[in-house]
Formats: sequence, C-alpha cells, structure tokens
Amino acid sequence: MKEPPDTADVIVIGGGGSGLAAAAEAAGLGRSVILLEKNPQLGGSTGQSVGSVSASNTPHQHKLGIKDSPDEHFEDLGLFAGAMAPRDNLALRHILVEEATDTFKWLLSNGVVFMGPALEPPHRHPRMHNVVPGSKSYPYHLGRLCSRRGVDIRFSTQARSFIVENERVVGVVAVDENGTERHFRANRGIVLTSGDYSGGREMKARFASDLAATSDAVNVTNTGDGHAMALAIGASVVNGDLVHGPILRFVPPSRPSLISRIPPFTWVAKAATFAMEHAPQALVRPILMSFITTVLGPDPGLFKAGGILVNEKGQRFTNERENPACDLVSQPNGVGYIVLDSALARQFTAWPNFVSTAPNVAYAYLPDYKHNRRDIYHEASDAARLAERLKMDPQQLAASLQSGGPDGTGLTKAPFIALGPVKSYIVLTEGGVKVTERHEVVGAGDKPLVGLFAAGSAGQGGLLLYGHGHHLAWAFVSGRRAGRYAALTRPI
Ligand SMILES: Cc1cc2nc3c(=O)[nH]c(=O)nc-3n(C[C@H](O)[C@H](O)[C@H](O)COP(=O)(O)OP(=O)(O)OC[C@H]3O[C@@H](n4cnc5c(N)ncnc54)[C@H](O)[C@@H]3O)c2cc1C
Repeated sequence: MKEPPDTADVIVIGGGGSGLAAAAEAAGLGRSVILLEKNPQLGGSTGQSVGSVSASNTPHQHKLGIKDSPDEHFEDLGLFAGAMAPRDNLALRHILVEEATDTFKWLLSNGVVFMGPALEPPHRHPRMHNVVPGSKSYPYHLGRLCSRRGVDIRFSTQARSFIVENERVVGVVAVDENGTERHFRANRGIVLTSGDYSGGREMKARFASDLAATSDAVNVTNTGDGHAMALAIGASVVNGDLVHGPILRFVPPSRPSLISRIPPFTWVAKAATFAMEHAPQALVRPILMSFITTVLGPDPGLFKAGGILVNEKGQRFTNERENPACDLVSQPNGVGYIVLDSALARQFTAWPNFVSTAPNVAYAYLPDYKHNRRDIYHEASDAARLAERLKMDPQQLAASLQSGGPDGTGLTKAPFIALGPVKSYIVLTEGGVKVTERHEVVGAGDKPLVGLFAAGSAGQGGLLLYGHGHHLAWAFVSGRRAGRYAALTRPI
C-alpha cells in the first residue's frame, strides 16, 4: 500500500480542543492539514474536562433576556485574578472575550449542545454554559468536522522536535505507532496544541514545585512535550509556576459506564437537555450521573461536618480542614478514603450538604454515589467489616473513627461509609509558551519564530484563565485563530 504523504500546508500537533479547532479552520480555508496525536484517540484534557465554556452575548443568554457584552466579560474575568492580576496578558484576554461569542456559536453550529448559562460570581451575568451530555462531545463533533474537511489524522504519533531551516520552522520530527521516526513538513505553518504539562513530572519540577511534580495528574499523557520542543528552539514559558492542584478528586471509574459509551450525538444531547428540564429528577439523575466521565472532587463540607480522611491503612494523617490534598501526596500509594458514620451520612443526602458538584446534575449527594459510583462507595455495618472490605488494618481504622476529625468528635454510629479511593491530582498547569497576538511563538530576542504558532494550554502565553469555562473557551478561540494564521502564512 502507498504510504500517505508526510507533507501538508499545515501541521497541527495535538488533537484536543485547540488542535481540532486549528485543524478544522485551516482545512476550511482549503489547506491540506496533517494532525499528529500521540494517543490512539482524540480528546486530551478537553475530553476529560467538566466541559463548561464561558462566553458573553450568546443565544442562550438572549433566550433568558440577559444583556451582556465582551467589555463586561473582560472586566469580570479580571476580578477572578485577584493579587495575580499584574501577571495577566491583557491583549490575549481581549482576544478571548471578543471572540468567545463567535466561537460558542461555531460550536453550536457543529452539533455541540449546551445548557445554561449559570451564574458564577464575580461574573455579573450568568455566562457559564455546560456541555451536554459531556465533554466527549468536543472531540466527537470537532473530530467529525475535521474528517469532513479532509484532515489527515495520524494517531499514536508523538511529535518530538522541530525542524528549522533558514530561520523558519518547517517541520516536525515524530515517532509513529511502530516506533519509526517520521519527518513531517509544513508548506505554510505548524500549530502547537499539545496541551499542558500537568502529567509531566520534569516540567512540573522545573517550573512549579516538587509537590506538584510528585502529584498525579488527571491527564497523565499531557507531559509538556510541546513546551520542551519549543524551549529547545528559543521559546520561553510564561506563568510556568501556576498549577491547579494538588486537589482531592475521586479516582475516575475503572470502566466507563454503558451509557457513557453512547456517542454524544446531537439528538442524544438534545433529548438529555429536554429530560433535564422536564422529567422528574429521580428519573434523570442516574442517567446524567452515568454520562459523567470527568473526575469529581469531594466537597470540603464533608470534612467541616466531621468526616475524616484516612490512608489506605486506615490511619488519619492530616488536619482535614487545612490542606489534606498536600499531605495525601506522601501517603502510601497517594491513596485515601473519606469516612463518615451514619449520622453524618444522613446530612449528605440533600442541599446544602453535597458530596461534590457534578456536571449537569449540579450537586451530587450520597445516594447519587451509592447508585452510580459503586466502585467508590463502600458501606459496612461496623468498622471491622469496612476495614476488611477496604483491606485496611482494622485496629487503625477503629482508632481513627474513635478519635474523629480535628475537633475530636468520634464517628460512632454504624453503618459506616467510605468514599474512595481519593487521590491528590494536578488538574492543569497554566504555563504556556510566549506568543504574539497572532499566536506566533516568540523566540530568542523576542522575535517570532517564523512558521510556528501555538494555541490552547501550550499557547496560553501568560493569560490568566481563572473561573470556570475560560480554559476551554481559550482552547477553541485560540485554536481557530492559530489555525487560520498558519493557513494564511506565505508558503515556503
Ligand atoms: C478534570 C478537568 C476538568 C476541567 N474542566 C474544565 C471546564 O469545565 N471548563 C474549562 O474551561 N476548562 C476545564 N478544564 C481545562 C481544559 O480542559 C483544558 O485547559 C483544555 O482542554 C486544554 O485544551 P488543549 O487543546 O490546549 O489541550 P488538550 O485538550 O489536553 O489537548 C492536547 C492534545 O495534544 C496531545 N499531545 C500532547 N503531546 C503530544 C505530542 N508530543 N505529539 C502529539 N500529540 C500530543 C495530547 O495527547 C492531547 O490530545 C478541565 C481540565 C480537567 C483536567
């Protein structure tokens, strides 16, 4: 069989939200595009996220009579940064808020369905739109768009370094699924959309901290390859020390539920949206919970109420009300369980005491976990049986229950419930390579590296994206823009 060519007008590195947006735009301008993805499937952190997108002036806001504008969005986004504000990249923030509206409509036009918007102060208006049925919708719909436009997607192909000739970045050295080195050449431009370095221990140690480096990542395959490749040719990383975590998260389901394996067709999403708005909650909650593929975080309210955190031996090791996530990192296998007695458990069945927030169901309570996350819900009639079930030392667990949380109130009322494993995760890292307003990667002497663009987390360029829904908005906005600029670069 004839080998596919390794030359295209545009080469995109990474098939998450920003990479798919870049590839689709470049191909939409009639350019040939090769997209390299190191994993055997598309998605990256985009497909593992909660999926919220914040934007102003959207059809969803109009439907609710909300009058909003990019200027107000710009001001409110700045309020999230607090003391970090001087480190923000205001030019990129302008681009984000100005273009989020159009990009949101572009997602809708390509079959992505959203609920909302929801209010998240200090936003003055509801702006957070939640994807339905889940964040797998992004790689699904944008992957289809890329296929329709003829993007040549090479799975299991990991970019390793750039080829630079005559002061222009002209290609990418990659390793394919057989371990063979391949040289991909771009006639016009290369777009770096390789995500963050949340899963890269070396990068986290270099830019953030040893604690971040030893903490697991939600997305273990985002190891900062693209950052390293760009650094090697003179680029720099901005805000590399800013990481989101370590924070406590329940481990993801070991096997995806049957429901979560249904492709996120637009009609499925619309049916789910209709059900959420009209069907009894008791009926739709289990279905919506089954669609959730992202990792869910236990609410600190569990510890405020008196729940305790024990390690896999059954031992308490931290003040749960301070920073348990940091202390969990150094426990055996980094694994913990949150333990409640029946008196506490009764409280966590209804508002305002929730176990976690959860996409589309808003708040998940103990019964939601009992019915839909049986892998992490453990109940036993006494401490010894709970210890047996979790392979803990029964005496250690009994002692932990007796001593109780930081205020010394023991957990005495059987049955006992443990939620876990829970681990400390780095959810994302904020450091991206320095870019211009055209998303060109800036090299030595502050000069753009001709032919190389970056978007999404890899091309975050010092932009602060606090609050929910801004990371994905940036991935799609910057990806589309970088794809266009690469496509419009003069050919070699
Ligand atoms: C649990 C979780 C929840 C989140 N929830 C939200 C939310 O609700 N709203 C929000 O705005 N943000 C959220 N985020 C953040 C958001 O998901 C990311 O910031 C965003 O998806 C980044 O998009 P990206 O395209 O830059 O990177 P990614 O989506 O991670 O894509 C990068 C791609 O590049 C590939 N790649 C990496 N290296 C190479 C290489 N060397 N060669 C080839 N391919 C490579 C990766 O495999 C991956 O597919 C969440 C993140 C997590 C982890």
